[in-house]
Amino acid sequence: MTATPSIVIIGAGFAGLGMALELQRAGIDNFTIVEKAGDLGGVWRENTYPGAACDVPSPLYSWSFEPKSDWPRRFSQQRDIHAYMRAVAEKHDLPRKIRFGIEVTDAEFDAVRGVWQVRTADGETLTADVLIPAVGQLSRPAMPNIPGVDTFTGPAFHSAEWDHDVDLTGKRVAVIGTGASAIQIVPSIVNDVSELQLYQRTPPWVVPRPNKPFPEALKRAFAYVPGLRAAVRDGIYWGLEGLGFAMTRRPALLRGVELVGKWNIRRHVKDKELRRRLTPTYTAGCKRILYSPNYYWGVANPKCQLITDRISRITPGGIVTADGEEHAADVIVYATGFHVTDSYTYVDIKGAGGEDLVDRWNREGVVAHRGVAVADMPNLFFLLGPNTGLGHTSVVFMIEQQVRYVAQAIAAVDKYGAQALAPTRSAQDRDN
Ligand code: NAP
Repeated sequence: MTATPSIVIIGAGFAGLGMALELQRAGIDNFTIVEKAGDLGGVWRENTYPGAACDVPSPLYSWSFEPKSDWPRRFSQQRDIHAYMRAVAEKHDLPRKIRFGIEVTDAEFDAVRGVWQVRTADGETLTADVLIPAVGQLSRPAMPNIPGVDTFTGPAFHSAEWDHDVDLTGKRVAVIGTGASAIQIVPSIVNDVSELQLYQRTPPWVVPRPNKPFPEALKRAFAYVPGLRAAVRDGIYWGLEGLGFAMTRRPALLRGVELVGKWNIRRHVKDKELRRRLTPTYTAGCKRILYSPNYYWGVANPKCQLITDRISRITPGGIVTADGEEHAADVIVYATGFHVTDSYTYVDIKGAGGEDLVDRWNREGVVAHRGVAVADMPNLFFLLGPNTGLGHTSVVFMIEQQVRYVAQAIAAVDKYGAQALAPTRSAQDRDN
């Protein structure tokens, strides 16, 4: 590898931008971010559905080295997070390093020259010493495999591709799914629509999330009292680590979450049968615990109908459930999540000797050393790679640790005058 390694980062979301910031801090400037969209921001650019917000407190859902004293609230809305990402990128002059509208299709390691050949959908080939896919796990919306999904004649869109030209006022709107996105959408639209059909397959545990604006005095204190911002961030971090400990080691501790979740249902929903259908029958923490100040308030609205019969097909005019009933709808919103576990298949990567990484992972399971580097794949570093998905804390915090690790790895290659670096199979196996 050359003394100034050339680096291609795929994706300009939190991970790609974080990598770029870390490289700059390490004095490495020879990198390019390629981004398929026309703007930076990743999921916070894409997800503009009504109510889109983050359920991790902003003092932790942000860079430790770019603290912000004037977050409007503890839990920020999409536009505030996107604006923060843009402001940090601009402060560090990153937009000049991003090539927008470029989609990477595949990459192959040229063992003779010791470089990655990175090909784009436009037929361009970029050459780089180091390749860093930072494409996230939530970039490909998953549409459900329901018969007739293409026959519906009204507007229908995924939560991550919200069609803001469609006015929901007075419409019969079907929302499919009750995950983190849906529970933000439901209370945000219920007042506007004439009827909201909410299709629930598995009820989530939802606990309250008070979100008052930060008082001006507190914002000033964040700005001027030394150590306060860091102390608050640390407090949130350790609180959430406690949740992680309970989820992975002591599920019995999550009884408290279940009690709060049940109380949250009771305080908004008077109808006993509706309460029963909303109450999960599995231990809290087996699916992501959700936070909302007003989800059950939205569901309890007389305009909202919770439908728990399985969907059997979609027709030109609505949705037919397993009991044979057709629910007429004007608009369908698919809040059905993303292609997470197969997200690695979207960039075709061939390592030394032409070995296809997707084939290997399909055969052997999706693993990486520390979720970042892959055996026999030289100078390839994934951000938010295999087995690094989270259910309890800030993904931005995790990205920060990963980009530091990658920058250290690149520095090590340089220091030892090596051509490339990859973990051994045994190191990767031990780690997994
Ligand atoms: P999600 O969590 O994957 O939820 C998808 C929902 O759609 C689930 O309720 C699922 O039911 C349902 N579903 C999927 N296919 C279905 C089908 N064929 N028929 C009926 N229902 C179907 O997706 P998401 O809510 O978009 O969230 C995606 C990710 O983004 C999650 O990791 C989430 O934590 C994250 N997110 C985070 C925030 C935040 O505040 N930090 C906000 C939004 C999203 P089952 O439960 O039965 O599978």
